[in-house]
Amino acid sequence: MTDALQCFKCGVQLRRAVDDNEAQPDEGVMFSASGNYGSTVFDPMDGSYLLINICDRCVAEAGEQGRVLVGRAGRPVMCDVPIADDKTIKSNIGFEVIDNGALVHWNKDIMGFDDYCFLELEDLKQGVPNNIKIHLDVDRLISDLERVYENIDKKEES
Ligand SMILES: [Zn+2]
Repeated sequence: MTDALQCFKCGVQLRRAVDDNEAQPDEGVMFSASGNYGSTVFDPMDGSYLLINICDRCVAEAGEQGRVLVGRAGRPVMCDVPIADDKTIKSNIGFEVIDNGALVHWNKDIMGFDDYCFLELEDLKQGVPNNIKIHLDVDRLISDLERVYENIDKKEES
């Protein structure tokens, strides 16, 4: 495995997690920044961004020392999805963009958030809001779900 960018903080040589990306490290986190108002060295507002790698050890240490925040831009969208003529399974069907500006201090015990948006068949029929991106054909999902729910109802009646 070839070299990735070194850790921005401690300089340790990181290895690439994937061959074709120098910036994606094994045992490290890749950070990107498009700049911001206030910076005197990087705020181009032209779509460019900086990338740095920080090794997992440095990220975890900084988290313990209260120098890392975690925020959230979205959450998974789940729905029952047909897997047989009379059976569904709860699956990830998309992503909901949320505007939650709340930043909290991060540490390595916070791996992420476990809540999600769950859409019922009726929600799908009413139309998916613009802030939700579904990676399935919604019309097909609706018709498949209607058929499967009908079959489940028939099975329960007999
Ligand atoms: Zn490091």
